[in-house]
Amino acid sequence: MQILIHSADAEQWQTAIAKALPTATVISSHVTLEARHNADYLVAWQPPGWLFEEQKGLKGIINLGAGVDALLNNPALPAGVPIVKLRDAGMADPMIDYVRYAVLHFQRDFDRYARQQARIQWQEQPLAPKAEWGIGVLGLGAIGARVAQTLAADGFPVHGWSRRPKALDGIRCYHGEEGLATLLGQVKSLVTLLPNTPATRDIINAETLAALPPGASLINPGRGSLIDEAALLEALGPVDAETRSGKDDGNGDTGRLRGAVLDAFAYEPLPADSPLWRHPRVLITPHMAAPTPRDAALEQVIDTLKAWQAGEQVPSVDPAAGY
Ligand code: NDP
Repeated sequence: MQILIHSADAEQWQTAIAKALPTATVISSHVTLEARHNADYLVAWQPPGWLFEEQKGLKGIINLGAGVDALLNNPALPAGVPIVKLRDAGMADPMIDYVRYAVLHFQRDFDRYARQQARIQWQEQPLAPKAEWGIGVLGLGAIGARVAQTLAADGFPVHGWSRRPKALDGIRCYHGEEGLATLLGQVKSLVTLLPNTPATRDIINAETLAALPPGASLINPGRGSLIDEAALLEALGPVDAETRSGKDDGNGDTGRLRGAVLDAFAYEPLPADSPLWRHPRVLITPHMAAPTPRDAALEQVIDTLKAWQAGEQVPSVDPAAGY
């Protein structure tokens, strides 16, 4: 079995996989063309097109991340080669922390207290009970389902949405367009953990934002493509209305949407001239919500390679669905 690795830290993956699979030949895409000829399996993060042009005998590809959008959008990707992506692989835990922090940012008014501090204003906000703080989680996959169930265990009413009907303990589950509309009307924080596919592109748009109750907040650690940024800015309202006029509600919540916590963007790094950078009710993080921990990922990579070596089927990505 010949395994080709392509990632920024390919040498570390190479050493770890070679140790776990001593009979396999494991090489990095950084070596010469002759040496990397005819790999059976590719283990990669965002491989370039030329790698597919030269590798004509691939029997399987392991995507070193949960999102397969970049891989599926690669025009050189050979058709019919099974793709296995990481499923949770240690990413759900940091994602839970990220989303929990973002929900509390709004539910415990940290956004308002930050603005009050800027005005040197000591004013306690009334506590919004968790039981009345509905959370919507769009995407109930390996990561989304764990986020939803953790928030439900924290005491929030959680509504989840997936492509196919789903049943999850403690979560009100919806699917389809009607299900989405029902969910949106009930949530104070909307969390987007959907993959980037043609069906999910701009799913957060003027219409879906308008369906949220006034004062709702958006948390997007999923993909930038999910958000129509112009519609988001419109829903957030004018950037500096509060500082200019001082005529807002005293909390700086001048727009229909109370605020947004964003980790993923259509263009990364987020361009310096994006108005999102300077919006006082937007918190921006640089796609750091849930990095892939190598140990947990390695375990899944090895299990998949062993299963393929034994001729077993491994659940793989559905290219038609796009995830
Ligand atoms: P999965 O592929 O396991 O799950 C995707 C979920 O989205 C499923 O519940 C699926 O429905 C649902 N879905 C897909 N298409 C649609 C649609 N058209 N309508 C409704 N629901 C849909 O993904 P993960 O949970 O592993 O990860 C979610 C996303 O989080 C990733 O795609 C990635 O973009 C992002 N991510 C971001 C990270 C970061 O650091 N910011 C790190 C890791 C992931 P069904 O259950 O019916 O299949």
